[in-house]
Amino acid sequence: RSKLSGRNAALLYQPEWQDEHRKKLEMIQALRLAIAHNEIFLVYQPKYDLASLTINGVEALARWQSKEFGFVSPAVFIPLAEETGLIDNIGLFVLRQACHDCKKWLELGYDIPVSVNLSAAQLSSGMLPEHVFSILADSGLAPHYLELEITESLLMQDQQGIDSQISRINDKGISFAIDDFGTGYSNLHYLSRFKAATLKIDQSFVRQLNESSDNYSLKNYSLVKGVIVLAKTLGLTTIAEGVEDQYTLNILRAMKCESVQGYLLSKPINFEELLIKFKQHEVENH
Ligand code: C2E
Ligand code: MG
Ligand code: MG
Ligand code: MG
Repeated sequence: RSKLSGRNAALLYQPEWQDEHRKKLEMIQALRLAIAHNEIFLVYQPKYDLASLTINGVEALARWQSKEFGFVSPAVFIPLAEETGLIDNIGLFVLRQACHDCKKWLELGYDIPVSVNLSAAQLSSGMLPEHVFSILADSGLAPHYLELEITESLLMQDQQGIDSQISRINDKGISFAIDDFGTGYSNLHYLSRFKAATLKIDQSFVRQLNESSDNYSLKNYSLVKGVIVLAKTLGLTTIAEGVEDQYTLNILRAMKCESVQGYLLSKPINFEELLIKFKQHEVENH
């Protein structure tokens, strides 16, 4: 502290800044132990085929129930994990658990794939393909039951090795979804090279579909429709995320969007609740 002078010293003595900084360090410390303390777990949000409204996929979402900090949103702890390198372990834990759970529901007769979110940082070691393949082998899950959700920004990083890691994973039959599509910058030509890929239209566009028809929302409507048409042309499928009302669902159906996900159909739920949902579905459809 004595080494600091002038501006830096003044900054250091901002009490709120200090509190926030200390809290962040304490949170990182707690996150470091979170897996060992069984504080990280998964919830699952179903994805639905829009024509039949049957479940055609399930997204795994990480949750952290901290003894010290209570419930911490993934919007907070995932960036923290990325910043500190903890994402490698958390990411592998999520992948392992999701594959294990998917295998379990397959054995119960529910033929539904699982999607796992991936951070760009998980590609920096170059080991991701090996990790994914060994987790699949350990869990006994066939590759086509796994989908990885990545963001556009990850694809646009021309870091050495990202491309080849993604291709190697894709070549084994694991599919990819581009999450939060439309919020970043995509090279659509690049997307069309995937063996199997889905565009997940970001909630921010989906949410606006039910807004009054001013100039802005009309443009938003055209944009969503355009993405769906373009995706089809490129051989990609589309899913709309964040669907909260029937009106929006109807618009998306008219636009021929393949799948939907959102609170209207189901919030993220735990494994037991998911099995109940699968079972209800089975009854409804027979
Ligand atoms: P995401 O992958 O885009 O996930 C969608 C988020 O929207 C989830 O928030 C989900 O609970 C929420 N959501 C779903 N339907 C609706 C809806 O109808 N309305 C509203 N308002 N929200 C809806 P969640 O679980 O808090 O996750 C936030 C983000 O954290 C995720 O965004 C993802 O980027 C990240 N994340 C979560 N789990 C993981 C993980 O295991 N690994 C990585 N790398 N990132 C994760
Ligand atoms: Mg996602
Ligand atoms: Mg998303
Ligand atoms: Mg998101």
